[in-house]
Amino acid sequence: MKLKVLKSTKLICFVLTLLLFYIPENVQAQKRKKGKKKDQTEIVAQPVKPANKKKKTIAELVKSSKKIEGLFSIYQDTITGAIQMVISDDQLNKEYIYFSQIANGVMDAGRIIRGSYRGSKVFKIEKYFNKIEFITQNTSFYFDPKSALSKSKDANISNGNMASIKIESHDKKKGLYLIKADNLFLAETLSQIKRPNIPGRPPTAFKLGNLNKTKTKIEAIRNYDNNTDLAVEYVYSSPSVLNNGSNAVVDGRNVSIKVFHSLIAMPENDYEARYDDPRVGYFTTKVDDQTSTSATPYRDLVHRWNLKKKDPNAAISEPVEPITWWIENSTPIEWRETIKNGVLQWNVAFEKAGFKNAMVVKIQPDDATWDAGDIRYNVLRWTSSPQPPFGGYGPSFVNPKTGQILGADIMLEYVHFTNRVMYDKLFDPTSLNETFENSNTEEDHAMYCSLGHVMHENILFGNTVLKATDASDLEMKRMKKEAMTSLIMHEIGHTLGLNHNMKASQLFTPEQLADADFIKGKCLAGSVMDYAAINITKDRTKQGQYYDTAVGPYDVWAIQFGYTPFKTKLERTELLEQSTKPELIFGNDADDMRSPGKAIDPRVMVGDLSNDQIRYSIDRFETINTMMRGIKDKFTKSGKSYQELRQAYYILSSQKGSAANVTSRFIGGVYVDRAMAGQHGGKTPYTPVSLEDQKRAMAALSKYVFAPNAFNAPNDLYNYLAMQRRGFNFMTRPEDPKIHEQVLGYQKNVLNHILHYNTLQRITDSQLYGNTYSLSTFMNDLNRAIFKADIYYNVNSFRQNLQLEYTNKLINMLTGKQSSNYTNSAKSMALYNLKNIKTMASNTGNISSRAHKQHLRILIDNALKEIK
Ligand SMILES: [Zn+2]
Repeated sequence: MKLKVLKSTKLICFVLTLLLFYIPENVQAQKRKKGKKKDQTEIVAQPVKPANKKKKTIAELVKSSKKIEGLFSIYQDTITGAIQMVISDDQLNKEYIYFSQIANGVMDAGRIIRGSYRGSKVFKIEKYFNKIEFITQNTSFYFDPKSALSKSKDANISNGNMASIKIESHDKKKGLYLIKADNLFLAETLSQIKRPNIPGRPPTAFKLGNLNKTKTKIEAIRNYDNNTDLAVEYVYSSPSVLNNGSNAVVDGRNVSIKVFHSLIAMPENDYEARYDDPRVGYFTTKVDDQTSTSATPYRDLVHRWNLKKKDPNAAISEPVEPITWWIENSTPIEWRETIKNGVLQWNVAFEKAGFKNAMVVKIQPDDATWDAGDIRYNVLRWTSSPQPPFGGYGPSFVNPKTGQILGADIMLEYVHFTNRVMYDKLFDPTSLNETFENSNTEEDHAMYCSLGHVMHENILFGNTVLKATDASDLEMKRMKKEAMTSLIMHEIGHTLGLNHNMKASQLFTPEQLADADFIKGKCLAGSVMDYAAINITKDRTKQGQYYDTAVGPYDVWAIQFGYTPFKTKLERTELLEQSTKPELIFGNDADDMRSPGKAIDPRVMVGDLSNDQIRYSIDRFETINTMMRGIKDKFTKSGKSYQELRQAYYILSSQKGSAANVTSRFIGGVYVDRAMAGQHGGKTPYTPVSLEDQKRAMAALSKYVFAPNAFNAPNDLYNYLAMQRRGFNFMTRPEDPKIHEQVLGYQKNVLNHILHYNTLQRITDSQLYGNTYSLSTFMNDLNRAIFKADIYYNVNSFRQNLQLEYTNKLINMLTGKQSSNYTNSAKSMALYNLKNIKTMASNTGNISSRAHKQHLRILIDNALKEIK
């Protein structure tokens, strides 16, 4: 220790000596600088005693500024653009809502794109000595004010101090404080804009630079009585970039993201919060009751508009204030009527909740002085983006204290009604399993709507089928119009507070869906909030409606739950008791089975339709197999390239992939019932899928996904699957169609689910409560489906791929990184099947088949050695 002290003393002495040595020169330099400044400005600086310095008044400090009056008055300097903000005494210790949305951005920055909402939060403005603080309030907990515990309601709960800004001037008489507000808006003070780097992202991926404070600027200030809005352009700079991003980014070193910030007065009205029920799907703000002893101490606030009857005693009344939608003036004229009609369909549901004309639609005039960034307007917007992120997106923002929806917009992407194919989406068999790597919260995931993608694929499929069967232009138009109506109804549903109902497509039988007269004018599912498949009739002469043209029974019922002005608790209970009706079943994204291994109820699925999804999928496989035979003739046009033919091939194949996924979810599936105990018509919460249906699904997979000829297209088709050349568009990847890779992709998706450790574990567990398709029988059936047809003979190249993939999966169950997740019984069956494969893979067939079988044997031998 002594030595250390000695050392540091010595060091200090040395530094002091150095400083002394340099001081004269520094002083000289300072003097030189001061002299220079004096010369330039001709101002003689008089030394003033700080005590005598007179504080400038607000009027003096804003002398060269323009005043923009509103909720928080803002002064903007007319020379520098710098802003100052006025806070009044009566605004202190009061709550406000902060909300932001992206005015413009790029997909490259991680889904930071026009119209995306960034959530709302409550903040308070407080004064601390000579500072004004902006403090986010925690709204996640409730304490019953009657409980003594409420005195400790702040314990172990964090608020967030977003900003602490010096008061520049205080007008005591008027009770006003002036602060500099640049840092509040020009930095990421109020909300984080740049997404954090996601671990595991390749180092070569596109990265936003750092916030450039010099280039970041305020674009517009709009001030109203109840909200102060600022549009800010954030510039992220980096001196050099490895990856310049997509074409949407002109210079990867300088990327602009424009954000609308809104500071909103807390609504003062008689809005009554409504609490969530698990049988209906509303977006909610989660609130925990910290003073409750219940097993479910939830006071989750349903998101809904503040609809009040003009005449509270009338059974049906117009609302005091309707929900008004504006069709943005950027909307293609030919679509406006269809869009309006889609919105107004919801009035049917509102009438059942007691409201007439609850929804009103207007068109934004071409010379409007407002734009969609103005939160006072709910706007149906239209974009045609370079990388379309969605077909429709319907965000809304709420008062986090009550759940009241304060505003909403809908973003629509033009691409979904064009033939522009997003190849990466279509080619990638995992495109349905959207990853939410950039989303921050559970709510974000739920709010994200990828219906547009599903619908775009469906429309392309519809186009292909219609073209291949020589449908008229009128028919083609009808299909697109129905698709648009359906998409609008879906997105409007989101803005009314509804989340997805992926279970709703169970409503009709395949026969009813193929009966044009029966389905006319109906919703093809229980709800428009599903991502259902397009209704394509196998018998093309019987084609009826392709999409929903009206809201479904579930939608009507859900609106009744959210908006009926209930007079008694009993009214609400009685309405909820109806949830067991087949047309009202509900399951959302949390339950849906699009990701392999994630959920358990096969009815809660995307891209499916009818109450017999297996049969409907089989129809689809067969329709596509028939189409495949004719597409070369139908899509080859004299004088044109083969681009459209190539698209048709991929579109049809990818639809087979979707049907395969839908079918696979029945294996090891368990139906979930959300009914409460004792509810009339309710079933047990968990009921395993019957043996018959699991076997049926297995047989369909065996025939249409795994069989040696499952993906056979006419061989002479492949020579023509060429993309049209454009400049150097094959520089990064060779242009030839990757047929085997694509087919294996679809097969892998199925295997990923049925051999997922969650699925296998559930097959064993559910044998305790009703499942009669045992693990051993299932795994035996699968083994047979993949080997029996050809293992003793010649094995074609598709099957070689599949057999190797499957064998490797079994090996990974025993020795791979995830092996500890598999149950012992699953591992034993994997081992059993590997030994079986080894026995079957004898030295037979042509050279290629023998080489393949030897490959299998060696893989298995090596794995078995590792197991010892
Ligand atoms: Zn959606």
